[in-house]
Amino acid sequence: SPSPLFEPLRVGAWTLPHRVVMAPLTRNRAFGQVPTAAMATYYAQRAHPQHGASLIISEATPISPEAHGYADTPGLHSPQQIQAWRAVTDAVHRAGGRIVVQLWHVGRISHTSLQPQGQAPVAPSALRAQAKTFVFVEQDGQRRGAFVDTSEPRALRLDELPSIVDAYRQAALHALEAGFDGVEVHGANGYLLDQFLRNGANHRTDAYGGPIENRARLLGEVMAAVTEAIGGDRVGLRLSPVTPSNDAHDDDPQPLFEHVVRQLAPLGLAYLHIVEGQTGGARDHQQGPRPFDYAALRQAYRAAGGQGAWMVNNGYTRELAEQALAGGADLVAFGRPFIANPDLTRRLREGAPLNTPDRATFYGGDERGYTDYPAL
Ligand code: NAD
Repeated sequence: SPSPLFEPLRVGAWTLPHRVVMAPLTRNRAFGQVPTAAMATYYAQRAHPQHGASLIISEATPISPEAHGYADTPGLHSPQQIQAWRAVTDAVHRAGGRIVVQLWHVGRISHTSLQPQGQAPVAPSALRAQAKTFVFVEQDGQRRGAFVDTSEPRALRLDELPSIVDAYRQAALHALEAGFDGVEVHGANGYLLDQFLRNGANHRTDAYGGPIENRARLLGEVMAAVTEAIGGDRVGLRLSPVTPSNDAHDDDPQPLFEHVVRQLAPLGLAYLHIVEGQTGGARDHQQGPRPFDYAALRQAYRAAGGQGAWMVNNGYTRELAEQALAGGADLVAFGRPFIANPDLTRRLREGAPLNTPDRATFYGGDERGYTDYPAL
């Protein structure tokens, strides 16, 4: 019988040919923080309307010089970067696909060596994350990569928060200039917006800390600015309610994230993208006093009038994806399977075997493990 996984769907401004989306995947191959020709090849390989992703979500892309937290990730804040992304989006469109850029500010998950003038990274509060980042250091004339502890951040002043909101607005405009079909705001995985949301990282006592309504305020302002700039029908948001990635923690995620999605319902977003469990890990990972109820999260959004597509992610197979669609999800994002299978959708449809992703070549390096995975 035909599977709903391969049926088209209108999502915001786009008509998607099926429900298989490519999740955002950091690959650390943008040397000098500028997108490369290899990146255009990689994304175009995954853009075939029937064999590849119905929608490609780019790797996380820093919105400003301060937003960087890992070596060799591609920015979207200089004219050179915008122009280089244009070659990527043109290649995807020529191949018949659609691509949105994931807008990223890492907040405290950074290192002074990656920051302008070696300054401290910014965060809701001056609390260092128990997390590592990856930097390059010169050693005996050689460029060597190393995992290092994240640096102690400084707390953003109240009067600096409008400039953070403005950086997201600017980045959304840059995205359209670079030829993207829209943007996904990265609200997940313990980065800046998630740091404001969760009380493990946000100890502020002003209007942006304390009660849930305050902790959700910055994200709400960012989403309002971005949707006002480019239209809600070209904007998605990724959340990861219980992931412990990057030292993310909240005492009670259920009411927090239900408030977040209710607040966003009037913005007319194209989609909400929910990482279930631990990003890249256990789907049943829990945080807080009771198991997280994802169906209740969706119901909270729908009850508030939210009509965006509901996208789910984390460890999906064809069988699990079909169960999710039967249970009310609209789209399923696949991450690691798309690293190794440029024609993942075709393989899922035909029940063909999948290539196995090679962890050793996920981050950094050359075309090996990047553009050389075979299609059928
Ligand atoms: P890891 O702990 O092995 O590495 C962490 C990061 O360091 C990588 O994401 C990469 O950016 C960087 N890195 C590692 N080796 C590198 C190299 N040789 N060259 C350049 N950069 C290098 O990564 P992991 O265990 O796969 O991921 C940890 C968690 O973080 C997972 O939950 C993952 O899903 C999540 N993650 C999230 C984002 C994001 O939200 N943007 C990006 C990467 C990973």
